[in-house]
Amino acid sequence: MTTTRTEQLRVIAEQASVELAEASAEEALAWTARTFGDSWIVASNMQDAVLIDLAVKAKPDVDVLFLETGYHFAETIGTRDAVATVYPELTIVNALPDTTVAEQDAAEGPRLYERDPDRCCALRKVIPLQRTLAKYDAWVTGVRRVDAPTRANTPIVTWDERNGLVKVNPIAAWSDEEFNGYIADHGVLENPLVSEGYLSIGCAPCTAKALPGTDARSGRWAGRSKTECGLHG
Ligand code: SF4
Repeated sequence: MTTTRTEQLRVIAEQASVELAEASAEEALAWTARTFGDSWIVASNMQDAVLIDLAVKAKPDVDVLFLETGYHFAETIGTRDAVATVYPELTIVNALPDTTVAEQDAAEGPRLYERDPDRCCALRKVIPLQRTLAKYDAWVTGVRRVDAPTRANTPIVTWDERNGLVKVNPIAAWSDEEFNGYIADHGVLENPLVSEGYLSIGCAPCTAKALPGTDARSGRWAGRSKTECGLHG
């Protein structure tokens, strides 16, 4: 992408961050489809298909990004495959790391996720994400302000400086009641692990059930100092 295009996107993001500050999810996604045409992608960890269900109403053949780390629960892979069946027009973009889990184990030693989870996330999530996002003008995430204290100020539209594209968070302002109401009202797919108490689902070695009275992301890297993958930093 040329610097000119990057600067154009930055201006678009800065204007929209003001104009769409109070936008509904539907308004934010309609704007995204109108503004970026085919050059946007929806990120999903396949915990549920709420964001995807909203996005296909704006663009039925939208691209959906899944970080295929090699460490997912079988239920998460099953949810991804079910999404492809329920929404046949969309395209799942599986972003792969440079190495398989076995190759990483051989190069770095086993269980890197225990010894150095930041490096493991960099290799298996952040680098594949950045490589994929480089092909788009905007990405859409399901980050919500109520997810965790670190996410309390999430804007609807912002400039993603690190990745050099526009970032849209259409459901940033949604409460848990709105979110669960949308799932119930629209019969949206949900990863079966959610009903077992996994309220924020990532890679299997780094995901536990959320403890009662804690935020949804408390089960991620539980017992370790890490709280974020580095995807939204
Ligand atoms: Fe590795 Fe855990 Fe990060 Fe997945 S969440 S990439 S297993 S450290």
